[in-house]
Amino acid sequence: MLQKKTVDQLQVKGKHVLVRCDFNVPLKDGVITDENRITAALPTIQKLMQDGGKVILCSHMGKPKGEPKPELSLAPVAKRLGELLGKEVVFAKDDEVVGPNAKAAVAKMQDGDVVLLENTRYRKEETKNEDNFSQELASLADIFVNDAFGTSHRAHCSTVGVTKFVKESAVGYLMQKEIEFLGNAVENPTRPFVAILGGSKVSDKINVINRLLEKVDTLIIGGGMAYTFSVAMGGHVGNSLLEADKVEYAKEMMKKAKEKGVNFLLPVDTVIAQEFKNDAPSKTVPSGEIPDGWMGLDIGEESRKLFADAIQDAKTVVWNGPMGVFEFENFAAGTKAIAEAMANIDATTIIGGGDSAAAVNQMGYGDKMTHISTGGGASLEFLEGKELPGVAAVDDL
Ligand code: AMP
Repeated sequence: MLQKKTVDQLQVKGKHVLVRCDFNVPLKDGVITDENRITAALPTIQKLMQDGGKVILCSHMGKPKGEPKPELSLAPVAKRLGELLGKEVVFAKDDEVVGPNAKAAVAKMQDGDVVLLENTRYRKEETKNEDNFSQELASLADIFVNDAFGTSHRAHCSTVGVTKFVKESAVGYLMQKEIEFLGNAVENPTRPFVAILGGSKVSDKINVINRLLEKVDTLIIGGGMAYTFSVAMGGHVGNSLLEADKVEYAKEMMKKAKEKGVNFLLPVDTVIAQEFKNDAPSKTVPSGEIPDGWMGLDIGEESRKLFADAIQDAKTVVWNGPMGVFEFENFAAGTKAIAEAMANIDATTIIGGGDSAAAVNQMGYGDKMTHISTGGGASLEFLEGKELPGVAAVDDL
């Protein structure tokens, strides 16, 4: 169980509470195109408001690289958040983030008020976790709450440094939920436990594969990663994604799976094309028999059935990474089949953020999953068993 202080253990009445959220939402021409991260932050904010805290929110947005970039301002988030909360969220427009405007806005706060600071990455110190900006952030508040799971694998001023300079710190509800779901799934799964990994690179998921092999009953590998395994089995992958320097590792992992008695499933067929584009003519061939000049862009129909069958009996499923180039409608069927299989079973189903979360939401299965993580990189590091700096820095219980 979580050994960290949570918002339920805080006395916030009349106090300034700085909350690190993850409001890094996609924007198109100043309009928010996916507000999941904003709605995910609401429970913590509402709790602190109801308890009479003066709630100061902060977040990064995109990569302004340490200088003010108007197109990466959090102003649109303040507006939308205000609508969702039914109360004005004062936007502390301030290029220094904690400059005169922010300080003035905070000084005026009444209990239950909400202020949102400007994009923390307008300051170059933020990503270097430098003390001066951490101290400035902390100077606004008595208590710090970290509810930004998506950046908890990074040690920045607003996730780690700030905790050194406040009296008290805790994790928010979203962070608590993420840690409990991901943690329970891996440490305490109801079996059978099936993990599905996809996406482009084996090298990004080396440690996850290695650790999950200690935990799961079945490990499914699809997507661009699968071709390195195919080569490890002596297959031919044409122009498909391949990490030649990871072939030996892939062999080791298959050996480990055997030793551990893990059912290790790879695609048995592959949808291939000669060009990397949606309308490229395609055909399906057995895995490991991809001709030169062709590349695998999705798992084939037999593989979809094989994987869906394995998911069918599962009681816990964790999925990270698409099965194919799902951004192209014509090569999204494999990813869709996994989402559908997970949506239709009576089991704990967890989506490890990033592309698979986007795919599940896009395909309309979002509300069928037990938990969709808000952090791709963070959930992967968590599944690897790494301690997340943003969590470690918060007060213990
Ligand atoms: P990652 O960031 O490693 O999770 O990978 C996600 C990306 O992998 C997505 O953008 C997919 O389009 C891509 N991907 C999945 N399968 C393939 C494939 N067979 N060939 C090329 N890219 C792929």
